[in-house]
Amino acid sequence: MGTPHILAIPCPIQGHINPLMQLSHVLAKHGCKITFVHTEFTYKRANIASTEQHNLEESHIKFMMLPDGLDPEDDRSDFLKVSASIRSTMPDRLPKLIEDSEITCVLVTISMGWALEVAHKLGIRGALFCPASATSLASLTSIPTLIHDGIIDSQGRATKNQEIKLSPNMPLMDTEDFPWNGFSKLMFDRLAQEMQTLELGEWWLCNTTNDLEPGAFSISPKILPIGPLMSNESNNISSFWQEDTTCLQWLDQQPPQSVVYVAFGSLATIEQNQFQELALALDLLNKPFLWVVRPSNDNKGNNNAYPHDFVGSKGKIVAWAPQKKILNHPSIACFISHCGWNSTLDGVCGGVPFLCWPFFGDQKINKSYICDVWKVGFGLDKDENGLISRGEIRKKVEKLVGDKEVKSRSLKLKETTIYNALDGGHSSKNLDMFIKWASNNSL
Ligand code: UDP
Repeated sequence: MGTPHILAIPCPIQGHINPLMQLSHVLAKHGCKITFVHTEFTYKRANIASTEQHNLEESHIKFMMLPDGLDPEDDRSDFLKVSASIRSTMPDRLPKLIEDSEITCVLVTISMGWALEVAHKLGIRGALFCPASATSLASLTSIPTLIHDGIIDSQGRATKNQEIKLSPNMPLMDTEDFPWNGFSKLMFDRLAQEMQTLELGEWWLCNTTNDLEPGAFSISPKILPIGPLMSNESNNISSFWQEDTTCLQWLDQQPPQSVVYVAFGSLATIEQNQFQELALALDLLNKPFLWVVRPSNDNKGNNNAYPHDFVGSKGKIVAWAPQKKILNHPSIACFISHCGWNSTLDGVCGGVPFLCWPFFGDQKINKSYICDVWKVGFGLDKDENGLISRGEIRKKVEKLVGDKEVKSRSLKLKETTIYNALDGGHSSKNLDMFIKWASNNSL
């Protein structure tokens, strides 16, 4: 059994690249060699060329790029188009890469299952890394059963609005909150097919812990919690946007537990009137705020224009933040979050209470865990016009930061969650077991 050499292939979106990069760092620290595959497009977008020069200590991690089959100027926001193009371009390139680099294990994120097929044909081990929660993964695995039991139809739509349990010891889930809610039939079919391909992965690693969502692991024995992944440096390396670190000095000047941090991840776009309402809500708060406003790439006229009466004098606005560091800064009071799984873990590992503002995908399920299971946050309610009003935001922020029990539960949750990744912790043992398995270069 030699040193494992892992070929890490993320779906080329930020929400997959970042966590797989974090896992790669953790694996490299444990002595694994990693070859991390970008598309040519994401390699340039994350400016990996400069990263490679400046991070030679990362020498266990090598980057490489493969074409995604599209022209440089093609629109990559159409996910189905990008993944179809990748599927018809990349698989032929993989066998040579695997053989030349003496790869012992291929590790993919969801929608890159084709690489597990290639690995399988070559007799190389393969595993999935899921950047979402184990509960989301469990729900995806349950698609055939859910269709069979008439809970969803063949297009993934709930046959009626009801609450169900995927397994006896999991929390109730609203059938309208499944991660594929809102998918087209084509997207849903692709997802269901992909889940079958991913069965080729012997392990389904999840950035989670046994205690955060204990029931989810009974759905499939392949799901292996290895989180929380806590590498601070790695986000910066794989980010599509340059982190604005001036906010850290700004945070140093704020009183302890005073700052409201607002960030909605890498994909969610906020409608113009809601954006303006949020801006005015932040003005209304008698508190400093740190707000991540990504340059809007939306073609529906949502250009993140601030309302004319927005003052913003108590706040700091940045285009992209060093989020993990922020959530561990003593001046942070609470996190207004879209509840993406990575942000959820960032907040949990910072011991920060949440105000939940889910948009789509798995975010509503994550919100249920935050508010109803772990009880470390509150939801925000929409008014009769579907707007989260400035009054609602102010009321909930004040209620949240004044709630000592929520804060104490957040700190406790931080402690128990982090413990899993320390030496001897449950996730750490799982990771050791995975590394041993990945060292053995045959099926
Ligand atoms: N993130 C960051 N800076 C920001 C906002 C987000 O580094 O200003 C990172 C965050 O740490 C997380 C990722 O972006 O790793 C967002 O992932 P998540 O699953 O929360 O949401 P998604 O972007 O997939 O919707």
